[in-house]
Amino acid sequence: MTRAQVLANSRRWFDDGHYQALLKRRVAQPTASDQPGNNEVLKAYLVQEIAPELTASGFDCQVFDNPVAGAPPLMVARRIEADGLPGVLTYGHGDVINGQEAQWRAGLQPWQLVVEGDRWYGRGTADNKGQHTASLSALRQVIDARGGKLGYNVTVLLEMGEEAGSPGLRAFCEQHRALLAADLMIACDGPRVHAQRPTVFLGSRGLVNFSLSLRSRERAYHSGNWGGVLTNPGIRMAHAVATLTDAHGRILVSGLLPPPVSAEVRQALAEVNIGGGEDDPVTNPGWGEPGLTPAERLMAWNTLEVLALGAGQPQRPVNAIPPSAVAHCQLRFVPGTRWEQLADLVRKHLQAHGFDDIEVQVTASSPATRLDLKNPWVAWTMSSIEHSVGKPVTLLPNLAGSLPNDVFTDVLGLPTIWVPHSYPACSQHAPNEHLLASVAREGVAMMAGLYWDLGDAASAPWFLRA
Ligand SMILES: [Zn+2]
Repeated sequence: MTRAQVLANSRRWFDDGHYQALLKRRVAQPTASDQPGNNEVLKAYLVQEIAPELTASGFDCQVFDNPVAGAPPLMVARRIEADGLPGVLTYGHGDVINGQEAQWRAGLQPWQLVVEGDRWYGRGTADNKGQHTASLSALRQVIDARGGKLGYNVTVLLEMGEEAGSPGLRAFCEQHRALLAADLMIACDGPRVHAQRPTVFLGSRGLVNFSLSLRSRERAYHSGNWGGVLTNPGIRMAHAVATLTDAHGRILVSGLLPPPVSAEVRQALAEVNIGGGEDDPVTNPGWGEPGLTPAERLMAWNTLEVLALGAGQPQRPVNAIPPSAVAHCQLRFVPGTRWEQLADLVRKHLQAHGFDDIEVQVTASSPATRLDLKNPWVAWTMSSIEHSVGKPVTLLPNLAGSLPNDVFTDVLGLPTIWVPHSYPACSQHAPNEHLLASVAREGVAMMAGLYWDLGDAASAPWFLRA
């Protein structure tokens, strides 16, 4: 069989309704991981839904308890054609966020696949069931087309806790390094830059969530009796927040800025336009770091957000000086940022501006990752996909959002390539989540092309093996 025939078969398989039938069954399983007590449903997705498909293609599937007690199970499926062959690891997650049942528009519900033209609605269609279904189905097509001989080994890692912050994923990978050993990771999650533009990204921005809090006294005091002689925490907090960025969102805490944008990152992002999609918000050109393009601000720079800000009762103000104020903030950052020192840096910054009464607490964090753009797998992947879909592919140095990619880069030491099959307006993590059938169909074909090309020892850069 030829490469062109495998791609044609993959598209026919999609057009014959097989992909839709699989996805329909998978969406029907309410695999929410952000609510407790759902581990049986989460395990059933691995054991009853994914394992049979992979076993039929020659995989050895093992479901593991999470190293974190009570956290959802994980599955490792390996297809070892021969010891000593190069290997690819692919990752996905079968869990989703809760259904938000009451909020979907009329005619839609989270646990039922509803097809409206190109839009296929249901929880998990975009994140991540539709994506790992595209990847694993393509892999099966290639295994069949190659008569069971891929020429490389494959390991599938599927977790069921990604939407709960991937509890235990790092510890699991540390404990099972040998089982998960590979030369490359290819995974599918997140959005393309635009619906019609195939996209590859190489890592993700990291994040630190942190809270500023100021407790001036135990209770509120009447503003008529005490205004003018008591400090107002709301005003203090507003001024403290105003020292973190200027009025246009430019970060003013110098320790929280990334290194300058490199020439290759700048070049990769030169053609990337942000927004402009049907459901996209109108962007604000004057916001953020001056001198950068919108794509550079989003993917090559750091952003500091105020997520929530509070003093008193905004819904029901009273004539009193509130006792306390809080600002819940977030830094999204690219590699090279001193994010581990954020609490210290912000504390010192606030002290230098006269705010030594404000406490800083980090509440969540995840590192940033980015494969070197010059890594030979990058150009190889881009050209494989271009060959499959016959149109240009956008390279993003990293996703603007976050993924547990540091586990694969740092713990498993892998080059990481992400090929997303969703799009920015997919309503992931919201009511009316959907995928675009046209994108999923193209996704199945491009993944088949990638899995096919990995078996072409002359072109795939397996020579990079350590
Ligand atoms: Zn998600």
